[in-house]
Amino acid sequence: MARKGTHPVSTMTKPAARSVREGPNEFETAQRQFDRAAEILNLDPNIRCILRTPQRILEVHFPVHMDDGSIRVFTGFRVQHNLHRGPTKGGIRYHPDVTLDEVKALAMWMTWKFAIIGLPFGGAKGGVVVEPERLSQTELEHLTRRFTTEISIIIGPERDIPAPDVNTSGQTMAWMMDTYSMHTGFSVPAVVTGKPLSIGGSEGRLEATGRGVMIVTIDALQRLGIPPTETTVAVQGFGNVGSHTARLLHQEGCRIVAVSDVHGGIYNPKGLPVPELLRYVQEHGTVLGFPQTESVTNMELLELPVTVLVPAALGNQITAENADRIRARVVSEGANGPTTPEADAIMHENGVFLIPDILANAGGVTVSYFEWVQDLQQFFWTENEIDQKLAHIMRKSFAKTYATMENRGVDMRMAAYIEAVSNVAAATDARSIYP
Ligand code: NAD
Repeated sequence: MARKGTHPVSTMTKPAARSVREGPNEFETAQRQFDRAAEILNLDPNIRCILRTPQRILEVHFPVHMDDGSIRVFTGFRVQHNLHRGPTKGGIRYHPDVTLDEVKALAMWMTWKFAIIGLPFGGAKGGVVVEPERLSQTELEHLTRRFTTEISIIIGPERDIPAPDVNTSGQTMAWMMDTYSMHTGFSVPAVVTGKPLSIGGSEGRLEATGRGVMIVTIDALQRLGIPPTETTVAVQGFGNVGSHTARLLHQEGCRIVAVSDVHGGIYNPKGLPVPELLRYVQEHGTVLGFPQTESVTNMELLELPVTVLVPAALGNQITAENADRIRARVVSEGANGPTTPEADAIMHENGVFLIPDILANAGGVTVSYFEWVQDLQQFFWTENEIDQKLAHIMRKSFAKTYATMENRGVDMRMAAYIEAVSNVAAATDARSIYP
């Protein structure tokens, strides 16, 4: 490890290369979605002001020893949107495109996600502006440990509990947990979730988001009277969420006809043998080139004639530009924020049944909550117990949202927002304003 004084120290910040961000500002999208729900709920203007903005924002600039002996200064954020229903919770993202507005939006969406699922947390999110693939393991560990130290003034098992997100993993959480525990002087497993099993992680966490997407998709098909065996599915993104969703929907009898990753997509209308595809991806690192398939672009995949479309890659994929060409009967949002508000309106008009991100991909945070509870009580459940508890919570939340959709005559996204925002508003109102 490079030590101060043993190398010429460069305090210059070498900015990470940034790709051009496409699509609308996420925080504006998040606020517009909230405003619509607040309007429908006729929410008290004072409560509206409180919930529309994050409660706490921490921006940090911190030095990291690099392998070549230099020091590089990185920028990171931790945003806590709302603390009225309990401690805050949310992932940490490492990406060159991370912005404060993106982190604010993601923190706000986390608040609604916890409220719709009925878990006792407020939303938070964190991020570091970095291209992780350009850093060595040692540099990533230094960065993670120093970032954890910088934000340790606001995180903790009863305050704010980080988790993995884009480009962070169980290993990242292990470093965070260890750093926090070193400062405290004893092991604090409940400070983060998504940890390896050996240090207090939970069974079932890795596939939890995909399992949740599968459960609500099957529920939606049931409501629409479409049997899984007559269902075709296209999945954009074949990472954690996309691959587990595809595998579990395939197990339920659905025909997975198209999947994609960052390099492009593959399509076979007769269906893909998902277990073989998973093995192929492990070997080749991409879905491209899988036998007996034709190539499609990520944009073409979205427009295929399928029963179910699962966007499970990035935000801003379905926009005013392509929404009219979406032919799926059901869209299950595995990714966060894949649909813009304009596209929502177009698809609703066209009769697409959309299961919104804050409901569809909430399986991950639900098992994160189970991990936190298990760590606090030092008593661990079996995978079967986890799966059953997860299924119960997902089904209950889907049914509640579906009922609100019918009673209020709104789409599923607005129904989820109405449920979530009224829960948080009730907590805010009950606690009143201090002092
Ligand atoms: P991941 O990194 O495991 O997988 C992402 C997938 O998307 C990969 O297959 C990657 O190749 C692909 N991809 C990347 N850039 C792309 C592009 N430009 N076009 C098409 N595909 C692209 O990430 P993940 O954990 O599966 O997360 C995917 C989405 O789901 C993100 O929006 C994330 O915020 C959301 N999400 C994840 C979880 C979770 O538990 N992992 C929970 C809730 C929501």
